[in-house]
Amino acid sequence: MGQAKLRGTPEQRKQAAIEKQLSLRPKHIICNNCQTELTDINAVDVAELPGIDAAFEAHCPQCGHDTYAIKGEKEAVARLHMAIEDAAGAEAQAGSVPSASGR
Ligand SMILES: [Zn+2]
Repeated sequence: MGQAKLRGTPEQRKQAAIEKQLSLRPKHIICNNCQTELTDINAVDVAELPGIDAAFEAHCPQCGHDTYAIKGEKEAVARLHMAIEDAAGAEAQAGSVPSASGR
């Protein structure tokens, strides 16, 4: 029986990614919308995003805007930013559609 030690199981890789994220975690994120300093930062799961080292998200209590801080390869970061903007834009549009509130 060889000592076939499995290296880099999905679990281990995820753990390593989490540790890397924590080491990259900023002290604060500046709100993109109103420049408030946000310290309530959530780590985003980027284990399945190639080229991304870490991503953090903070919700601004002042203006309700979500700001993202993403670290990684330039292209991957740009792509993720666009994906987030797409998602946020769709949400904003959906939210701004006047609802037919006919009681
Ligand atoms: Zn804000």
